[in-house]
Amino acid sequence: MSEPVRLAEYTTSRVGGPAADWIEATSATEAVEAIRALDSSGTPLLVLGGGSNTLMADVGFPGTVVRLAFSGAQVVQEEAGGTTLVRLAAGQDWDEAVAWTVQQGLTGLEALSGIPGSAGATPVQNVGAYGADVSQSLVSVQAWDRVAGELVTLTNEDLRFGYRDSVIKRSLLASDDTTPRWVVLSVDFRLHHTGRTAPVRFAQLARALGVEEGEWAPLETVRHHVLHLRAAKGMVLDAQDQDTWSTGSFFTNPILPASVRAHLPADTPAYGAGQDEDGEKLVKLSAAWLIDRAGFGKGFGLGPDEQAIAGARASLSTKHTLAVTNRGNASTADLLAIARTVRDGVEAQWGVRLHPEPVLVGCLL
Ligand SMILES: Cc1cc2nc3c(=O)[nH]c(=O)nc-3n(C[C@H](O)[C@H](O)[C@H](O)COP(=O)(O)OP(=O)(O)OC[C@H]3O[C@@H](n4cnc5c(N)ncnc54)[C@H](O)[C@@H]3O)c2cc1C
Repeated sequence: MSEPVRLAEYTTSRVGGPAADWIEATSATEAVEAIRALDSSGTPLLVLGGGSNTLMADVGFPGTVVRLAFSGAQVVQEEAGGTTLVRLAAGQDWDEAVAWTVQQGLTGLEALSGIPGSAGATPVQNVGAYGADVSQSLVSVQAWDRVAGELVTLTNEDLRFGYRDSVIKRSLLASDDTTPRWVVLSVDFRLHHTGRTAPVRFAQLARALGVEEGEWAPLETVRHHVLHLRAAKGMVLDAQDQDTWSTGSFFTNPILPASVRAHLPADTPAYGAGQDEDGEKLVKLSAAWLIDRAGFGKGFGLGPDEQAIAGARASLSTKHTLAVTNRGNASTADLLAIARTVRDGVEAQWGVRLHPEPVLVGCLL
Protein backbone atom coordinates (compact mmCIF):
# COMPACT_ATOMS: atom_id res chain seq x y z
CA MET A 1 0.00 0.00 0.00
CA SER A 2 1.27 3.48 -0.83
CA GLU A 3 1.90 6.05 1.92
CA PRO A 4 -1.09 8.28 2.68
CA VAL A 5 -0.83 11.80 1.22
CA ARG A 6 -0.27 14.47 3.85
CA LEU A 7 -2.32 17.62 3.36
CA ALA A 8 0.72 19.63 4.51
CA GLU A 9 2.22 18.92 1.07
CA TYR A 10 -0.79 20.47 -0.69
CA THR A 11 -1.64 23.48 1.48
CA THR A 12 0.14 26.83 1.45
CA SER A 13 0.37 26.87 5.27
CA ARG A 14 2.21 23.54 4.94
CA VAL A 15 0.25 21.99 7.79
CA GLY A 16 -2.39 19.26 7.94
CA GLY A 17 -2.30 15.50 8.53
CA PRO A 18 -2.87 12.60 6.12
CA ALA A 19 -5.92 11.98 3.96
CA ALA A 20 -7.46 8.49 4.25
CA ASP A 21 -7.76 8.47 0.47
CA TRP A 22 -6.72 10.77 -2.36
CA ILE A 23 -7.88 11.19 -5.96
CA GLU A 24 -6.24 13.45 -8.53
CA ALA A 25 -9.02 14.36 -10.95
CA THR A 26 -7.40 15.19 -14.27
CA SER A 27 -10.63 16.22 -16.01
CA ALA A 28 -14.01 17.64 -15.06
CA THR A 29 -15.59 14.29 -15.98
CA GLU A 30 -13.25 12.42 -13.65
CA ALA A 31 -14.00 14.88 -10.86
CA VAL A 32 -17.76 14.50 -11.27
CA GLU A 33 -17.57 10.70 -11.42
CA ALA A 34 -15.44 10.58 -8.28
CA ILE A 35 -17.60 13.05 -6.35
CA ARG A 36 -20.83 11.31 -7.38
CA ALA A 37 -19.51 7.91 -6.25
CA LEU A 38 -18.17 9.24 -2.95
CA ASP A 39 -21.40 11.10 -2.17
CA SER A 40 -23.56 8.09 -2.94
CA SER A 41 -21.45 5.90 -0.63
CA GLY A 42 -21.54 8.55 2.12
CA THR A 43 -17.75 8.94 2.15
CA PRO A 44 -16.57 12.27 3.59
CA LEU A 45 -15.35 14.44 0.71
CA LEU A 46 -12.91 17.31 0.54
CA VAL A 47 -12.51 19.05 -2.80
CA LEU A 48 -9.16 20.78 -2.96
CA GLY A 49 -7.73 23.29 -5.42
CA GLY A 50 -4.46 24.99 -4.49
CA GLY A 51 -4.92 24.56 -0.72
CA SER A 52 -4.35 28.29 -0.15
CA ASN A 53 -7.56 28.90 1.77
CA THR A 54 -7.79 25.60 3.63
CA LEU A 55 -6.57 24.92 7.16
CA MET A 56 -6.57 21.18 7.73
CA ALA A 57 -6.47 19.51 11.14
CA ASP A 58 -3.25 17.82 12.28
CA VAL A 59 -5.13 14.50 12.53
CA GLY A 60 -5.82 14.68 8.81
CA PHE A 61 -8.96 13.92 6.84
CA PRO A 62 -10.94 10.71 7.43
CA GLY A 63 -12.41 10.58 3.91
CA THR A 64 -11.31 11.18 0.32
CA VAL A 65 -9.66 14.31 -0.98
CA VAL A 66 -10.48 15.01 -4.62
CA ARG A 67 -7.87 17.40 -5.93
CA LEU A 68 -8.98 19.29 -9.02
CA ALA A 69 -5.91 18.83 -11.19
CA PHE A 70 -7.24 19.90 -14.57
CA SER A 71 -6.30 23.24 -16.07
CA GLY A 72 -6.95 25.33 -19.14
CA ALA A 73 -7.72 28.88 -20.22
CA GLN A 74 -9.49 29.62 -23.49
CA VAL A 75 -11.29 32.36 -25.35
CA VAL A 76 -14.92 31.25 -25.73
CA GLN A 77 -16.15 34.18 -27.78
CA GLU A 78 -15.14 37.59 -29.08
CA GLU A 79 -18.22 39.72 -28.48
CA ALA A 80 -19.55 42.87 -30.08
CA GLY A 81 -18.69 46.01 -28.12
CA GLY A 82 -15.09 45.10 -27.31
CA THR A 83 -15.55 42.34 -24.79
CA THR A 84 -14.24 38.78 -24.75
CA LEU A 85 -15.65 35.78 -22.92
CA VAL A 86 -12.93 33.57 -21.45
CA ARG A 87 -13.31 30.22 -19.70
CA LEU A 88 -10.95 28.93 -17.02
CA ALA A 89 -10.97 25.30 -15.90
CA ALA A 90 -11.42 24.80 -12.15
CA GLY A 91 -7.91 23.49 -11.50
CA GLN A 92 -6.25 26.23 -13.53
CA ASP A 93 -3.62 28.14 -11.53
CA TRP A 94 -5.25 31.53 -10.98
CA ASP A 95 -2.25 33.78 -11.33
CA GLU A 96 -1.09 32.07 -14.52
CA ALA A 97 -4.56 32.73 -15.92
CA VAL A 98 -4.43 36.39 -14.89
CA ALA A 99 -1.01 36.72 -16.57
CA TRP A 100 -2.49 35.17 -19.72
CA THR A 101 -5.41 37.65 -19.80
CA VAL A 102 -2.99 40.57 -19.39
CA GLN A 103 -0.85 39.22 -22.26
CA GLN A 104 -3.99 39.10 -24.41
CA GLY A 105 -4.63 42.78 -23.60
CA LEU A 106 -7.80 41.91 -21.70
CA THR A 107 -8.77 44.13 -18.77
CA GLY A 108 -10.69 42.99 -15.68
CA LEU A 109 -8.55 40.60 -13.64
CA GLU A 110 -5.23 42.48 -13.42
CA ALA A 111 -5.78 43.78 -9.87
CA LEU A 112 -6.22 40.16 -8.76
CA SER A 113 -2.67 39.29 -9.82
CA GLY A 114 -0.63 37.20 -7.42
CA ILE A 115 -3.52 35.59 -5.53
CA PRO A 116 -2.60 31.93 -5.03
CA GLY A 117 -4.85 28.98 -5.73
CA SER A 118 -7.14 27.74 -8.45
CA ALA A 119 -9.61 29.50 -10.74
CA GLY A 120 -12.45 27.24 -9.55
CA ALA A 121 -12.09 28.44 -5.96
CA THR A 122 -12.27 32.15 -6.83
CA PRO A 123 -16.08 32.37 -6.83
CA VAL A 124 -16.29 30.48 -3.51
CA GLN A 125 -15.24 33.47 -1.43
CA ASN A 126 -15.46 36.08 -4.21
CA VAL A 127 -11.72 36.54 -4.23
CA GLY A 128 -10.70 40.16 -4.15
CA ALA A 129 -7.85 42.65 -3.74
CA TYR A 130 -6.93 46.24 -4.61
CA GLY A 131 -10.49 47.41 -5.25
CA ALA A 132 -11.46 44.44 -7.44
CA ASP A 133 -13.16 41.12 -6.90
CA VAL A 134 -14.20 38.33 -9.24
CA SER A 135 -17.89 39.26 -9.01
CA GLN A 136 -17.11 42.35 -11.14
CA SER A 137 -16.29 40.29 -14.24
CA LEU A 138 -17.59 36.77 -13.61
CA VAL A 139 -20.44 35.82 -15.95
CA SER A 140 -21.24 32.28 -14.80
CA VAL A 141 -19.82 29.02 -13.49
CA GLN A 142 -20.40 25.46 -14.63
CA ALA A 143 -20.74 23.29 -11.56
CA TRP A 144 -21.69 19.87 -10.25
CA ASP A 145 -24.67 20.21 -7.89
CA ARG A 146 -24.10 17.50 -5.25
CA VAL A 147 -27.65 17.81 -3.91
CA ALA A 148 -29.54 17.70 -7.22
CA GLY A 149 -26.97 15.30 -8.72
CA GLU A 150 -26.68 17.26 -11.97
CA LEU A 151 -24.49 19.64 -13.92
CA VAL A 152 -25.72 23.22 -13.61
CA THR A 153 -24.83 26.71 -14.77
CA LEU A 154 -24.96 29.36 -12.07
CA THR A 155 -25.01 32.96 -13.23
CA ASN A 156 -23.37 35.86 -11.44
CA GLU A 157 -26.80 36.72 -10.00
CA ASP A 158 -27.38 33.12 -8.82
CA LEU A 159 -24.08 33.22 -6.92
CA ARG A 160 -25.31 36.13 -4.74
CA PHE A 161 -21.84 37.44 -4.11
CA GLY A 162 -20.90 39.44 -1.03
CA TYR A 163 -17.64 40.49 0.58
CA ARG A 164 -15.53 37.26 0.64
CA ASP A 165 -18.81 35.42 0.27
CA SER A 166 -21.11 33.65 -2.19
CA VAL A 167 -23.95 31.17 -2.17
CA ILE A 168 -21.28 28.47 -2.58
CA LYS A 169 -19.44 29.48 0.59
CA ARG A 170 -22.72 29.82 2.49
CA SER A 171 -23.66 26.27 1.44
CA LEU A 172 -20.45 25.10 3.10
CA LEU A 173 -20.78 27.09 6.31
CA ALA A 174 -24.44 26.10 6.73
CA SER A 175 -23.66 22.37 6.79
CA ASP A 176 -21.39 19.88 8.55
CA ASP A 177 -19.96 19.02 5.15
CA THR A 178 -16.36 19.80 4.21
CA THR A 179 -17.15 20.61 0.58
CA PRO A 180 -19.76 23.04 -0.76
CA ARG A 181 -22.99 21.89 -2.41
CA TRP A 182 -21.72 23.12 -5.78
CA VAL A 183 -18.32 22.03 -7.08
CA VAL A 184 -17.17 24.54 -9.69
CA LEU A 185 -15.81 22.88 -12.85
CA SER A 186 -15.12 26.00 -14.90
CA VAL A 187 -15.60 29.76 -14.65
CA ASP A 188 -16.50 32.26 -17.41
CA PHE A 189 -15.35 35.88 -17.25
CA ARG A 190 -16.24 38.80 -19.51
CA LEU A 191 -13.14 40.94 -20.03
CA HIS A 192 -12.63 44.19 -21.91
CA HIS A 193 -10.40 45.36 -24.72
CA THR A 194 -9.43 48.78 -23.43
CA GLY A 195 -6.29 49.44 -25.42
CA ARG A 196 -4.10 47.70 -22.83
CA THR A 197 -5.08 50.06 -20.01
CA ALA A 198 -6.98 49.46 -16.79
CA PRO A 199 -8.83 51.59 -14.23
CA VAL A 200 -7.10 51.96 -10.84
CA ARG A 201 -9.61 51.57 -8.03
CA PHE A 202 -7.43 51.53 -4.92
CA ALA A 203 -5.60 54.48 -3.33
CA GLN A 204 -2.42 52.59 -2.39
CA LEU A 205 -2.14 51.13 -5.90
CA ALA A 206 -2.82 54.55 -7.47
CA ARG A 207 -0.02 56.07 -5.36
CA ALA A 208 2.38 53.31 -6.45
CA LEU A 209 1.46 53.95 -10.08
CA GLY A 210 1.68 57.74 -9.72
CA VAL A 211 -1.93 58.30 -10.86
CA GLU A 212 -5.11 59.43 -9.15
CA GLU A 213 -7.58 56.82 -7.93
CA GLY A 214 -10.09 56.30 -10.78
CA GLU A 215 -7.55 57.13 -13.50
CA TRP A 216 -6.27 54.55 -15.97
CA ALA A 217 -2.83 53.01 -16.26
CA PRO A 218 -1.16 50.51 -18.60
CA LEU A 219 -2.42 46.98 -17.97
CA GLU A 220 1.02 45.35 -17.62
CA THR A 221 2.15 48.11 -15.27
CA VAL A 222 -0.87 47.59 -13.04
CA ARG A 223 -0.10 43.87 -12.80
CA HIS A 224 3.57 44.58 -12.10
CA HIS A 225 2.79 47.02 -9.27
CA VAL A 226 0.13 44.76 -7.74
CA LEU A 227 2.66 41.90 -7.61
CA HIS A 228 5.25 44.22 -6.11
CA LEU A 229 2.91 45.59 -3.42
CA ARG A 230 1.68 42.10 -2.57
CA ALA A 231 5.20 40.65 -2.31
CA ALA A 232 6.18 43.41 0.13
CA LYS A 233 3.33 42.18 2.38
CA GLY A 234 4.22 38.49 2.00
CA MET A 235 1.10 37.95 -0.08
CA VAL A 236 2.73 36.27 -3.10
CA LEU A 237 3.77 32.66 -2.56
CA ASP A 238 7.51 32.26 -2.20
CA ALA A 239 9.01 29.00 -0.91
CA GLN A 240 11.99 30.96 0.49
CA ASP A 241 9.81 33.42 2.43
CA GLN A 242 8.05 31.93 5.46
CA ASP A 243 5.87 35.04 5.69
CA THR A 244 4.01 33.51 2.75
CA TRP A 245 3.49 30.09 4.41
CA SER A 246 -0.04 31.00 5.34
CA THR A 247 -3.60 31.15 4.09
CA GLY A 248 -3.17 34.87 3.29
CA SER A 249 -5.41 37.00 5.48
CA PHE A 250 -6.52 34.87 8.41
CA PHE A 251 -9.44 37.16 9.30
CA THR A 252 -11.95 39.01 7.17
CA ASN A 253 -12.39 42.74 7.68
CA PRO A 254 -15.41 43.13 9.99
CA ILE A 255 -18.48 44.83 8.49
CA LEU A 256 -20.54 46.37 11.29
CA PRO A 257 -23.17 49.07 11.92
CA ALA A 258 -21.54 52.53 11.68
CA SER A 259 -22.46 53.10 15.35
CA VAL A 260 -19.47 50.86 16.27
CA ARG A 261 -17.23 53.88 15.62
CA ALA A 262 -18.43 55.49 18.85
CA HIS A 263 -16.54 52.78 20.78
CA LEU A 264 -13.33 53.03 18.76
CA PRO A 265 -10.54 55.65 18.64
CA ALA A 266 -11.18 58.56 16.28
CA ASP A 267 -8.34 57.48 13.97
CA THR A 268 -9.75 53.94 13.41
CA PRO A 269 -9.88 53.31 9.66
CA ALA A 270 -13.50 52.72 8.65
CA TYR A 271 -14.86 52.61 5.11
CA GLY A 272 -18.48 52.93 3.96
CA ALA A 273 -19.94 49.46 3.29
CA GLY A 274 -23.53 50.17 2.27
CA GLN A 275 -26.55 49.47 4.44
CA ASP A 276 -28.09 46.47 6.14
CA GLU A 277 -31.64 45.20 5.45
CA ASP A 278 -33.07 47.75 7.92
CA GLY A 279 -31.34 50.66 6.19
CA GLU A 280 -28.67 51.05 8.89
CA LYS A 281 -25.34 52.33 7.57
CA LEU A 282 -22.48 49.82 7.67
CA VAL A 283 -18.72 50.34 7.86
CA LYS A 284 -15.87 48.02 7.04
CA LEU A 285 -13.05 48.08 9.62
CA SER A 286 -9.46 47.05 8.98
CA ALA A 287 -8.81 43.76 10.80
CA ALA A 288 -5.04 44.34 10.42
CA TRP A 289 -5.32 47.71 12.19
CA LEU A 290 -7.49 46.31 15.02
CA ILE A 291 -4.99 43.48 15.53
CA ASP A 292 -1.97 45.75 15.53
CA ARG A 293 -3.55 48.28 17.88
CA ALA A 294 -4.66 45.52 20.24
CA GLY A 295 -0.96 44.84 20.83
CA PHE A 296 -0.31 42.03 18.34
CA GLY A 297 2.44 43.42 16.16
CA LYS A 298 4.13 41.92 13.12
CA GLY A 299 5.95 38.70 14.03
CA PHE A 300 3.89 38.07 17.20
CA GLY A 301 4.42 34.43 18.23
CA LEU A 302 3.56 32.05 21.06
CA GLY A 303 5.77 29.60 22.92
CA PRO A 304 4.75 26.08 23.99
CA ASP A 305 3.00 27.47 27.09
CA GLU A 306 1.18 29.97 24.85
CA GLN A 307 3.23 32.89 26.20
CA ALA A 308 4.28 35.49 23.65
CA ILE A 309 7.84 34.86 22.41
CA ALA A 310 10.07 35.69 19.47
CA GLY A 311 11.26 32.87 17.19
CA ALA A 312 8.16 30.71 17.71
CA ARG A 313 7.16 27.84 15.39
CA ALA A 314 4.18 29.94 14.27
CA SER A 315 3.69 33.69 14.31
CA LEU A 316 1.96 36.58 12.63
CA SER A 317 3.78 37.45 9.44
CA THR A 318 6.72 39.79 9.96
CA LYS A 319 5.30 41.86 7.07
CA HIS A 320 1.56 41.93 7.86
CA THR A 321 -0.48 41.42 11.03
CA LEU A 322 -3.31 39.69 9.18
CA ALA A 323 -1.43 36.54 8.15
CA VAL A 324 -0.79 33.65 10.55
CA THR A 325 2.37 31.94 9.33
CA ASN A 326 4.26 28.68 9.70
CA ARG A 327 7.91 29.44 10.48
CA GLY A 328 9.07 26.00 9.35
CA ASN A 329 7.83 23.28 11.67
CA ALA A 330 4.49 24.54 12.96
CA SER A 331 1.38 22.39 13.36
CA THR A 332 -2.18 23.41 12.65
CA ALA A 333 -2.67 23.64 16.43
CA ASP A 334 0.19 26.17 16.61
CA LEU A 335 -1.42 28.35 13.92
CA LEU A 336 -4.81 28.13 15.60
CA ALA A 337 -3.33 29.08 18.98
CA ILE A 338 -2.01 32.34 17.48
CA ALA A 339 -5.27 33.05 15.69
CA ARG A 340 -7.28 32.37 18.87
CA THR A 341 -5.08 34.62 21.01
CA VAL A 342 -5.38 37.40 18.44
CA ARG A 343 -9.13 37.01 17.99
CA ASP A 344 -9.76 37.02 21.75
CA GLY A 345 -7.35 39.90 22.35
CA VAL A 346 -9.02 42.04 19.68
CA GLU A 347 -12.43 41.28 21.14
CA ALA A 348 -11.27 42.15 24.67
CA GLN A 349 -9.71 45.42 23.46
CA TRP A 350 -12.28 46.63 20.92
CA GLY A 351 -15.44 44.58 21.47
CA VAL A 352 -15.17 43.44 17.83
CA ARG A 353 -15.09 39.73 17.03
CA LEU A 354 -12.97 38.70 14.07
CA HIS A 355 -14.02 35.78 11.89
CA PRO A 356 -11.65 33.47 10.01
CA GLU A 357 -11.37 33.74 6.23
CA PRO A 358 -9.93 30.26 5.45
CA VAL A 359 -12.03 27.13 5.56
CA LEU A 360 -11.19 25.14 8.70
CA VAL A 361 -11.39 21.39 8.08
CA GLY A 362 -11.65 19.11 11.11
CA CYS A 363 -10.55 21.88 13.47
CA LEU A 364 -12.06 24.84 15.25
CA LEU A 365 -10.84 28.29 16.13
C1 LIG B 1 -0.21 34.30 0.39
C2 LIG B 1 -1.71 34.33 0.18
C3 LIG B 1 -2.35 35.48 -0.27
C4 LIG B 1 -3.75 35.49 -0.48
N1 LIG B 1 -4.33 36.65 -0.91
C5 LIG B 1 -5.67 36.69 -1.13
C6 LIG B 1 -6.29 37.90 -1.60
O1 LIG B 1 -5.64 38.92 -1.85
N2 LIG B 1 -7.63 37.88 -1.78
C7 LIG B 1 -8.39 36.77 -1.54
O2 LIG B 1 -9.60 36.85 -1.71
N3 LIG B 1 -7.82 35.61 -1.11
C8 LIG B 1 -6.48 35.55 -0.91
N4 LIG B 1 -5.90 34.39 -0.45
C9 LIG B 1 -6.74 33.22 -0.18
C10 LIG B 1 -6.77 32.18 -1.34
O3 LIG B 1 -5.67 32.33 -2.19
C11 LIG B 1 -8.05 32.27 -2.17
O4 LIG B 1 -9.17 32.12 -1.37
C12 LIG B 1 -8.05 31.24 -3.30
O5 LIG B 1 -9.14 31.48 -4.17
C13 LIG B 1 -8.18 29.81 -2.77
O6 LIG B 1 -7.99 28.93 -3.86
P1 LIG B 1 -7.53 27.45 -3.66
O7 LIG B 1 -7.69 26.74 -4.95
O8 LIG B 1 -6.18 27.41 -3.05
O9 LIG B 1 -8.62 26.96 -2.60
P2 LIG B 1 -8.54 25.71 -1.62
O10 LIG B 1 -7.80 26.12 -0.38
O11 LIG B 1 -8.08 24.50 -2.32
O12 LIG B 1 -10.09 25.58 -1.26
C14 LIG B 1 -10.72 26.57 -0.48
C15 LIG B 1 -12.19 26.17 -0.25
O13 LIG B 1 -12.89 26.18 -1.48
C16 LIG B 1 -13.35 24.88 -1.81
N5 LIG B 1 -13.11 24.70 -3.24
C17 LIG B 1 -11.91 24.68 -3.87
N6 LIG B 1 -12.10 24.54 -5.18
C18 LIG B 1 -13.42 24.45 -5.38
C19 LIG B 1 -14.25 24.30 -6.52
N7 LIG B 1 -13.75 24.18 -7.75
N8 LIG B 1 -15.61 24.25 -6.35
C20 LIG B 1 -16.16 24.38 -5.12
N9 LIG B 1 -15.42 24.52 -4.00
C21 LIG B 1 -14.07 24.56 -4.13
C22 LIG B 1 -12.57 23.92 -0.95
O14 LIG B 1 -13.33 22.74 -0.67
C23 LIG B 1 -12.34 24.75 0.29
O15 LIG B 1 -13.48 24.74 1.11
C24 LIG B 1 -4.51 34.34 -0.23
C25 LIG B 1 -3.87 33.16 0.22
C26 LIG B 1 -2.48 33.16 0.41
C27 LIG B 1 -1.79 31.90 0.87
